[in-house]
Amino acid sequence: MTAEIIDGKAFSETVRGKVAEGVAALKETHGITPGLAVVLVGEDPASQVYVRNKGKQTVECGMQSFEHKLDAATSEVDLLALVEQLNADPAVHGILVQLPLPDHIDADKVINAIAPAKDVDGFHILNVGLLGTGQKSMVPCTPLGCLMMLRDHHGSLSGLNAVVVGRSNIVGKPMAQLLLGDSCTVTIAHSRTKDLAGVCRSADILVAAVGRPQMIPGDWVKPGATVIDVGINRIPAPEKGEGKTRLVGDVDFETAKETAGAITPVPGGVGPMTIACLLANTLTACCRANGLPEPE
Ligand code: NDP
Repeated sequence: MTAEIIDGKAFSETVRGKVAEGVAALKETHGITPGLAVVLVGEDPASQVYVRNKGKQTVECGMQSFEHKLDAATSEVDLLALVEQLNADPAVHGILVQLPLPDHIDADKVINAIAPAKDVDGFHILNVGLLGTGQKSMVPCTPLGCLMMLRDHHGSLSGLNAVVVGRSNIVGKPMAQLLLGDSCTVTIAHSRTKDLAGVCRSADILVAAVGRPQMIPGDWVKPGATVIDVGINRIPAPEKGEGKTRLVGDVDFETAKETAGAITPVPGGVGPMTIACLLANTLTACCRANGLPEPE
């Protein structure tokens, strides 16, 4: 049996459509336009693509997009000053500082300088603590997108065994918190995990956030499990021509889809949901800032 393909691209269009409706209603009823500021330091090619896409989709949803592209040599002091300026700007409801930052800048210091209410990436320690204690917070976009797809597919996640491979602060840990919040029994695996194959095979829900191309083969997937592949890895694709590349996930899609009950593709799975959730978080931040009811 071949797995159902979870179409993150189509789902993200639905989410963005709802955000656009919410933005239009805010403008019409209250004369407020949500604004998202994205700060990019340096010239990392992948980051430039992400920032361009974020800016484009922000405008398409009817929000204001403020892009700040800074030189790679920008000092930490100058970056912190920009963050302060954005914190104080009433037209800016969400602030995202694109990671990674150059080595001479302390990323934690910059993230924790963002006003928590505008921290639409959900990386500020206050938001991390709120999420960990089950309180209302800004939820990191990639894990939030994964959770939305899982809820959509399963309805209730209660009692399911979830395995998250990867323990980063931006994906693995918040993903595990969200699954726990939905009453899964959660295991977090990482590079020191013993018998990773066996751990993965115990999962009703398997989330891969490792950054290693196709490292999880189909025979690590429990028959019928739901597989969420967060990985975005570029590998050579000689079949497309010399020097060409293609994107693959952390899961070996071809073998995993023969065992899984449902699986997200790469590209077209988690990636588009991440930006949609960023826009949804910005709308939420704008509603909270203005004391208005939050979108569902
Ligand atoms: P990190 O490099 O920060 O974390 C990787 C995690 O994988 C670590 O916890 C590491 O364990 C674990 N790991 C590494 N090797 C192994 C192994 N052999 N076996 C088991 N675990 C291992 O990556 P991120 O969390 O930032 O990103 C993960 C992937 O997700 C990347 O491909 C990234 O591009 C992608 N990504 C996709 C997004 C999207 O929108 N779709 C958004 C963000 C990320 P340890 O802690 O022990 O070192």
